[in-house]
Amino acid sequence: MIGEFVIRNAEVAGRPGLDVWIVDGRVAEIGVGLRPPRGDTLDARGGAVLPGLVDHHLHLHALAASRMSVRCGPPDVRGPDDLARALSEAESEDDGGWVRGVGYVETVAGLLDAAMLDRLHSARPVRVQHRSGALWMLNSAALRATGLVDVRHPGVERDSEGQPTGRVWRADDALRERLPSGKPPGLAGVGRDLARLGVTAVTDATPDLAPGSLAALMADAANGQLPQRLHLLGVPPGSTPVPERGTRVTVGPYKIVLADSEPPDLVGLMDTITRVHSEGRAVAVHSVTRESLMILLAAFDEVGCVPGDRIEHASIVPAEVVGVLRERGLTIVTQPGFIADRGDDYRARVDERDHPDLYRCRSLLDAGVALALSSDAPYGPLDPWTVIAAAVGRRTESGVVLGESERIDPPRALEAYLAPPDNPGGVPRRVRPGVSADLVVLDVPLREMLGSPDSAAVGTVLVDGRVVYAG
Ligand SMILES: [Zn+2]
Repeated sequence: MIGEFVIRNAEVAGRPGLDVWIVDGRVAEIGVGLRPPRGDTLDARGGAVLPGLVDHHLHLHALAASRMSVRCGPPDVRGPDDLARALSEAESEDDGGWVRGVGYVETVAGLLDAAMLDRLHSARPVRVQHRSGALWMLNSAALRATGLVDVRHPGVERDSEGQPTGRVWRADDALRERLPSGKPPGLAGVGRDLARLGVTAVTDATPDLAPGSLAALMADAANGQLPQRLHLLGVPPGSTPVPERGTRVTVGPYKIVLADSEPPDLVGLMDTITRVHSEGRAVAVHSVTRESLMILLAAFDEVGCVPGDRIEHASIVPAEVVGVLRERGLTIVTQPGFIADRGDDYRARVDERDHPDLYRCRSLLDAGVALALSSDAPYGPLDPWTVIAAAVGRRTESGVVLGESERIDPPRALEAYLAPPDNPGGVPRRVRPGVSADLVVLDVPLREMLGSPDSAAVGTVLVDGRVVYAG
């Protein structure tokens, strides 16, 4: 039994001075001067009570691992000398002496291979992840330690003599199996971070979860290391994991990754979508280029869409297809946080004709397209209040506004974090009697928070009526 709990003197839906009475994990009543509960009371001191935020796209294990990693990209590292220093100063992540780097981008020292990494650091096994998450770069010691020379995997890049170059593309599970620990990192720290930010539900968008990764996610949801609700896109078609009783795990659409570097195979894509749809399941398709979006829409033209089909990132959306997204009933799950995190790099490196099409928000909403926001952490900033501020201001690191006409109002940006995990872009959840008590109590009224979004103003956070963070 969780029992009773009252939040007093709170602002709910713009009305101040209200009490929110919680019984057995649900909001039972909202009113003025409710009778004392048989349980705890929290004085909100006029702060707003909101539904808990939902991060509709992130990667939990990568996020947990990034907490134990050395930053290998801007602003910490800008050139080869910086990178060599960062690697040599990095603590090993385990007894095998491994160094794990994240956030790398080619502006630091080009696309790395084993020989180049050896010149920067050869003493210990090093693996550096590209900030897109699509590529790992290993030095020679790491290649030897993992035995990748003998591994037949399409992601292991080889030179003309058949030797691994040190580049491993989209093969996280194959790589992890060959690392000393061999199992995914625990999620306790990530769960705490998310709670502190006011996030009460997450969608893990990692594609094709290996059995060990899936089991680890389910276990950490069951044992409370991850207190948030968990929606999974990476459960392979044809398999349905049965969550343990009382856990908050659900299976969502099936994640399909369209390659960033080459045009996707239209027929193969159509086959996959048809197969997943025939299981009664929607798809969630990763698209970060103009070309991949056009091919995806061509595939949907042929095989049709079902409710719940979504496009992840939609980093570049040409104006002429906005209406098509609306007609097809597709949901866009995007990340304006990238504008704040690397917008100056986009300005320098993305074709200028694509700038108006980058991480659209306002034009999608105005056209009636369902829009959800998310972090894509650890590849984008995790803090939802940072992402909300980025959706509102669209300022790059240097303060330049990128895509002025795509700015959205603060309340709409917040709403894009409030829809339920199984309907991102749908009707925002509200604090009202009957709903699960997944709640965020702010230190300030909502208007003040939205005027200057800052996670420091998150006070208390509850999931199912249980306090998971108390600031
Ligand atoms: Zn992602």
